[in-house]
Amino acid sequence: MNRVILLLLVVLGGLVIVGRILPRAGTPEAVEKNVVSSAIDTASSLGRDQRLLPPPAAVPQPGGSGGSALARLGVRRRIAQARGSVYLDSAVVLDSILRRWVRPGRVPLRVTVIPNPSSGGAGVTAGYRAQLRKALDHWEAVDLGLRFVEVEGSESDIQVGWIDRFGTDQSGMTVLESGPDGAIRQAQITLALHSMTGDPLPSYAQLAIALHEVGHAIGLPHSADSSDVMFPTTHATELTRRDRATALLLYRLPPGSVEQ
Ligand SMILES: [Zn+2]
Repeated sequence: MNRVILLLLVVLGGLVIVGRILPRAGTPEAVEKNVVSSAIDTASSLGRDQRLLPPPAAVPQPGGSGGSALARLGVRRRIAQARGSVYLDSAVVLDSILRRWVRPGRVPLRVTVIPNPSSGGAGVTAGYRAQLRKALDHWEAVDLGLRFVEVEGSESDIQVGWIDRFGTDQSGMTVLESGPDGAIRQAQITLALHSMTGDPLPSYAQLAIALHEVGHAIGLPHSADSSDVMFPTTHATELTRRDRATALLLYRLPPGSVEQ
């Protein structure tokens, strides 16, 4: 067991991605956002959901469940052909693994929100929780087969916690735990209550950060287009066509390695 825990910590450190944000021009109150997205590959076997998921009809099954080089090539070509209208190629650049939830039968993802942060107070999080719910609704409205239900207790798929502020100008963090097959097993989101300077984040910034981190929590990589929610330093409060198209393509492709 100790060896497994050590493996998780080591891999986590090696896969941290850091993006920085600059204040939006003309809005001095614009939040500085810096997102850390991390992924952990566990050595565990396929989950039950993964075994139950039928592969998409048009694309052979690649990845950790025994896909062939030809199948992986097919997926890479799909991603390359969509370049410009989607940004899934940045996931390929990262580590050549497509990560997403596998939820046959639209089994909802259970979301646990820590009600009382250690600092900042419940009054701060009341509004923030509404923005988080709005962000979940935005992603749910994209036809990915994902639904989010808030539950209490420790048994959940996505945990959302709070931090008063990060030590840098980042405002959110998402840690993904996935198997070698690319199926996400758990996501932990941490949202900052205040900017680096101690100012409470305005509601639009809370929504932008929540949208971005939930995007990571469903497996999306960063976009290079500053208008997209998944731009590393986004202020976007609405999903763009590229955000939706990227998520739709991700959930039409089988998860796992697309390495050559
Ligand atoms: Zn990010």
